[in-house]
Amino acid sequence: MILHLKPNTKSAILLSIMVDKHFDFVIIGGGVAGLTAAQYGARANLSTAVIEAASNGGQSLLINDLENYPGVFPAISGYELIDAMVKQAKSFGAEFITATVKSLEKKESGFELATTKGIIAAKAVLLATGAKHRHLNIDGEEKLIGKGVSYCASCDGPFFRNKRISVIGGGDAAFDEATFLSNLTDKVYLIHRREAFRAQAAVAERVMNNPKIEKMLNKIPVKINGTEKVESIVLKDVKTGEEIVHETDAVFVFVGMDPQTELVDFVQKDSSGYVVTDENMETSVKGLFCAGDVRAKPFRQIVTAAADGAYAAHSAEKYIRGE
Ligand code: NAP
Repeated sequence: MILHLKPNTKSAILLSIMVDKHFDFVIIGGGVAGLTAAQYGARANLSTAVIEAASNGGQSLLINDLENYPGVFPAISGYELIDAMVKQAKSFGAEFITATVKSLEKKESGFELATTKGIIAAKAVLLATGAKHRHLNIDGEEKLIGKGVSYCASCDGPFFRNKRISVIGGGDAAFDEATFLSNLTDKVYLIHRREAFRAQAAVAERVMNNPKIEKMLNKIPVKINGTEKVESIVLKDVKTGEEIVHETDAVFVFVGMDPQTELVDFVQKDSSGYVVTDENMETSVKGLFCAGDVRAKPFRQIVTAAADGAYAAHSAEKYIRGE
């Protein structure tokens, strides 16, 4: 929602009374994109704040071995990377606020964010809210979450040690997590709706060569059975239409992500709902930037999120200084 205030001294005074904190640059979301922007923003001498509702880190916290981040060798965990990034951003003066942003409005002089910790004003804002796990939306899925249906292998995998584990999806996440889960049990089923995979070649090859991972291709899940816990999953063969009941103790779902854009119904998005930016991370609204997995782009990785964050802070600095 864009609200244009008329230049009126009374409303300006009222606004400054209502605002609890003012910053040059406010970043919504403490994942890799947001944390990189915080570091760059603070180092550029902008008063910078990161607002995060939960733990900083987002999707990165789910990574056990971060093996493809340049220069980080041997691999560290996503948690270790985030811990260092938060300390680094704080060391340059970035402020961290744990709060939920309820609304974001463009004002005459910048932006106003209504948060659970009060009203915050900013000259420029970065949306770095990431994306959340997509669900299958099939019978039995919602009621069996926490009872065998999961979207996080490192969180819930250890509950299914030596059990039959099914993984749904054919992208990097499904392949990475299937590999992780194969360390916990001898029987992992990778169920994918096609014969071709989206996963990167190196990640896919590891799964293909793993004797503990059985591939079930051209199968689409239609129902998850179980009352107190997952007992089986009904799979439909996309070529023959035949349905089979596949017995399993757990169903790990990795079928992609949905961008978290609820705060910005006023910016331009692509057909999948991701926020459109130019190469400087500028959105269709002046002063509002966007970085990381919530942004429309072809390759979502930690390294591309970090690059987005650096660009966004650089662009925000130029915007704030009126360049
Ligand atoms: P993704 O690349 O979009 O893959 C989603 C997979 O789920 C696709 O194989 C898709 O099948 C399948 N799928 C979607 N809806 C489905 C449904 N209703 N039923 C059954 N299958 C369904 O998503 P992702 O794997 O979560 O990855 C998201 C982003 O994060 C990607 O850009 C990825 O590269 C990145 N990522 C990178 C790493 C890494 O570098 N190690 C790790 C994790 C994630 P189709 O192929 O038929 O569409």
